[in-house]
Amino acid sequence: MKFVTVIGNRPQFVKASAVSRLLRAEHEEVLVHTGQHYDDELSAVFFDELGVPRPDYELALGRGSDSGQTARMLGAVGELLADEAPDAVLVYGDTNSTLAGGLAAAQARVPVAHVEAGMRSFDRAMPEELNRVLTDHLAGLLLVPSQVAADNLAREGVAGSVELVGDVMVDVAQLFAARARADDGALEHLGVARGAYVLATAHRAGNVDDPARLGRLVDLLLGLEAPVVLPLHPRTRARLEAAGLLGRLVAGVTITAPLGYLTFTALLHGARAVLTDSGGVQKEAYLAGVPCVTLRASTEWVETVRAGWNVLVDLDAVAAAGALARPVPQERPQLYGDGRAGGRVVAALAGWSI
Ligand code: UDP
Repeated sequence: MKFVTVIGNRPQFVKASAVSRLLRAEHEEVLVHTGQHYDDELSAVFFDELGVPRPDYELALGRGSDSGQTARMLGAVGELLADEAPDAVLVYGDTNSTLAGGLAAAQARVPVAHVEAGMRSFDRAMPEELNRVLTDHLAGLLLVPSQVAADNLAREGVAGSVELVGDVMVDVAQLFAARARADDGALEHLGVARGAYVLATAHRAGNVDDPARLGRLVDLLLGLEAPVVLPLHPRTRARLEAAGLLGRLVAGVTITAPLGYLTFTALLHGARAVLTDSGGVQKEAYLAGVPCVTLRASTEWVETVRAGWNVLVDLDAVAAAGALARPVPQERPQLYGDGRAGGRVVAALAGWSI
């Protein structure tokens, strides 16, 4: 079979690394990079480190509003689908690239497979939630990471067939865990001691686009007792600069450029706790056995909260301090599969009757 895979941002490069090589062993894959993330630190480094195949198309459509970006991607992907005539289109996660790839395919009457289907935060103010819901209702094959995700889709009555494959990010996390645990280079470089610092990431529109909420985020980070390491997303850096807040933050927090997957994972494994508004990082913290404090009021990774490893605090500094002080749970059950989701994705695609 011939697949067109549409990816465009950092977490999608991680996810595709678990699938593309396996897919290519049996099928033809045309890889499309929409350019949603275009900085080398958010894009090229992931292709190099994780062995994602070089894109066949680089669309460079990263800038602009969500609507403008999605519309331009929709047009461009629609055109290339007409040229490539694939049997199916493969999309991942919840970004504008996911929705544009899925919708362009559906409009061209090409079947859509969605990896990481069924995730819901139930917060429609998040652009990602809109992308998830819409893509799931376009897809013919919905590959879910957990039973909770399958239940969400059953409740919504999606038209496509649902298959529980586990989470492809678990495959990647398992592959690099031992190397990350043994790697002290980044900790030494930043002057932090294993188990004695908090690793933070923040880039959700809901936290950084509104200057008042951005100010609360800065206060929260500056108020923490432990040293904080913050690999700074370009979107967040731009908003901090525009709000005149970057100087205050730099004075109290160790800021780095966005990191490659290997360095970030080494810092994650060495951290006492993680503070984040990322989806993927909540899950990776769980997999690494590092407690997570999530800077959001809702999450799509609800299993990590139910297991006691993740606490939702939004931007409440007191709640964050309380969550960081709590004891670490004893149990850490396998919530998102066994690290072989990539193979199950490929098997599901091969067995898909389209
Ligand atoms: N990540 C990284 N370097 C960083 C921050 C994150 O490699 O400086 C990785 C992280 O390990 C995870 C992915 O990027 O695999 C998460 O991406 P992001 O937080 O941008 O997206 P989300 O998961 O929130 O959609």
